[in-house]
Amino acid sequence: MSSFFDKLMLARQVSFKEGRVEMLENQRLLLFPMELAAFYTADLLKDTEGTKELYRTGKECMLKGFVYNTMKSHGPTSRKDLLSLLSNIASFAGWGVYRYEMIDEKNHKILMNMWDCLVSDYLKGKVDAPCDHIFRGFIAGGASVVFGREMECIESECIALGDSRCHFTAATKEELEKEFPKFFGRQV
Ligand SMILES: [Zn+2]
Repeated sequence: MSSFFDKLMLARQVSFKEGRVEMLENQRLLLFPMELAAFYTADLLKDTEGTKELYRTGKECMLKGFVYNTMKSHGPTSRKDLLSLLSNIASFAGWGVYRYEMIDEKNHKILMNMWDCLVSDYLKGKVDAPCDHIFRGFIAGGASVVFGREMECIESECIALGDSRCHFTAATKEELEKEFPKFFGRQV
């Protein structure tokens, strides 16, 4: 069990009731077989519009639900604490292992690495471009709420392509377009 899970249990911040899993007071979670996210991604990333749809869905669910509610229930906290809480929740929920490589609060930029992700593990060798679009959307939505401005996210390295890690950059649209012209058109 992760130490994050232990802390949640101790603080009574996670509960499993009949038909309902909740954490951080009133945040409702759904546990589903990993194949759902992997199959859904495999199907939609066949074209650019599907790829962007996966991304937008991940982003919207953070913008309008999860991160917004977490901020509300968790109270005032620093941006770094909130980002750390979000990556702990993602790991706890089984999406993989995450480490921030850089959090630049002044220039609104985040670099993040991910390993052992269920979607990229499943799609390893089956795709010709980075595939973690739902999670990329989670990062973009989370970063937008935390920084209080519109942020986007690009995945430029992916375990599914044989890279040693999945690598994400969250920043403003303008900056990402400049830094990743090739990925930008296909991902944002
Ligand atoms: Zn990836």
